[in-house]
Amino acid sequence: MRILIAEDDPVSRRVLESMLKKWGYDVETTTDGLEAWKVLQGQDPPQLAILDWMMPGMDGLQVCREVRGRANHPYCYILLLTAKGQDSDVIAGLEAGADDYLTKPLRANELRARLYTGKRILAVQRELLAAQEALRIQAVRDPLTGLFNRRYMHESLEQELHRAARAQLPLGIIMVDLDHFKVFNDTAGHLAGDILLKDLGSFLQAHTRREDVVCRYGGEEFVVILPGAPPGVTERRAELIRSAVKEAELQRHSRSGVAVTLSAGVATFPEHGSSAMELLSAADRALYRAKADGRDCVRVGPVEAAAPRARGAQPELPSSWPLRPAR
Ligand SMILES: [Mg+2]
Repeated sequence: MRILIAEDDPVSRRVLESMLKKWGYDVETTTDGLEAWKVLQGQDPPQLAILDWMMPGMDGLQVCREVRGRANHPYCYILLLTAKGQDSDVIAGLEAGADDYLTKPLRANELRARLYTGKRILAVQRELLAAQEALRIQAVRDPLTGLFNRRYMHESLEQELHRAARAQLPLGIIMVDLDHFKVFNDTAGHLAGDILLKDLGSFLQAHTRREDVVCRYGGEEFVVILPGAPPGVTERRAELIRSAVKEAELQRHSRSGVAVTLSAGVATFPEHGSSAMELLSAADRALYRAKADGRDCVRVGPVEAAAPRARGAQPELPSSWPLRPAR
């Protein structure tokens, strides 16, 4: 573990350095506060710092305040060294953001024990960050396929639509649905069904661009958001996905001669709507047509002319989302 020492007194500095090295720490030494602050701002700085209180340039308290004042940095555990021992000084040090303090002259055993405490706190901190990161991933990912989940899809689609509208760029979405998945589940079992969905997730990821957002919409249904893709590109991509699945490794899941096939509905901005709701609804209706037309095909947008709605008639969009006939 690396430790930064900032101490202007050469004797103190040497004593401290040799103790730490003896205990197996990697030591970086600086002789004033400014230098210490520079090191702590650098790439991959030491996570533990021993700062003398009284130093030229910037004193230990100022360095503490600067370190605590920045956001989004890995935590730095700070031990303040002081010749002062009055209560008010200790409080000032802790208020400035020091984690602990030691009074000079240093006693080796005490320093060693305080360093253990620091290491323990840093370890807890690392675990917390790892847990937080895991939670963040859980919040946006579908656990089975590892793809983005439905919640993230909605957020992402809203965001991409805003971006597209502002930059006057097109955007495409493809709604993909595995054909006859219910039958597959009933005959092969849910476990096999899960493996098929997982493989399909990987397949979709492998057959889309890096900037595309591939999401599991729910059940055997997936949504791919294609930022910047005009209608032709989106439709061709859907068609490629549909045809490629027939040659894919995925066919090992086919049962008694029934191949694994996909149906897809395509909708694009601005042609089929300008809100996430409108686009999803358009893609959903296209997908429904693909199913009705015998599955294993791609359909684009709504062809039905928007019939003029009678005064007082029910709105076209379902009030609860989604609402659709069983497939
Ligand atoms: Mg000093």
